[in-house]
Amino acid sequence: MYARKHDCTFISLDELSESISKKKNVRRCIVVTLDDGYRDNYINGAPLFRKLNVPYTIYVCTKMVKGGMLYWWEILEKLVLEQDKIVLADGRSFNCSTKEEKEQAFLDIREVILKLPQSSLLEGLKTLFKNYDINYGYGNDELGLTWEQIRELSKEPLCTIGNHTYSHSAFTGLTDEEIKKDINYAASEMKNNVGIDMHHFAFPFGEATAVSKHDVELVKHLGFKTSATTNDGLICYGTNLLELPRLFVTEKNWKNVIDRVIKNC
Ligand SMILES: [Zn+2]
Repeated sequence: MYARKHDCTFISLDELSESISKKKNVRRCIVVTLDDGYRDNYINGAPLFRKLNVPYTIYVCTKMVKGGMLYWWEILEKLVLEQDKIVLADGRSFNCSTKEEKEQAFLDIREVILKLPQSSLLEGLKTLFKNYDINYGYGNDELGLTWEQIRELSKEPLCTIGNHTYSHSAFTGLTDEEIKKDINYAASEMKNNVGIDMHHFAFPFGEATAVSKHDVELVKHLGFKTSATTNDGLICYGTNLLELPRLFVTEKNWKNVIDRVIKNC
């Protein structure tokens, strides 16, 4: 494996938090995390991690398990792929005839959606996309992990199950009380259905625009060992464990990502 050939070590989030807390070196250490709790983590991911002996964390959004999830990012992706141009209810239009335009349109409309009031998101989306015939229940039967699959994964020494809230709402549209409720509800559902406590957290939509210092403080008071954002960056000596940066890995960029880890030393 390319990473191991270059002296990289794969460690768990518990090992990371212990090393950082004890001011140990985390040089060339890699922590693998997967967000949301998609079923393919169980089907494709887990067997591969087992084969390669790589520890990993799945941050589970429990509404994806329970059902009733509004997979608006999947719905948006589908819409962008199907259409050559998207016109929102307010007249704003987004060209999406080429691959590049589709990628840009997805990101631009995503920003619009993230600013909608989260408590009435479905109504907001229905208004925004009134020109389109959309199945808002899309994905609920096939995309999320089941409780049985999480129970199985939680028994594997390599797997850590983390908290990713119940509803996966952007914090920007929620009050402090609503945020706490969303996180605690996910914790109690996990405890009731799988019998485990979750010590690690990932912000839904964790980029800088969606996570404030205030949110970080709030999560800290809920007692998590670590919390992860999607801010691009590497973990080093002195990194705040409650505001962990990450590197987004794709099929195309994985080698560059490992090279960044190697050069960080
Ligand atoms: Zn997520």
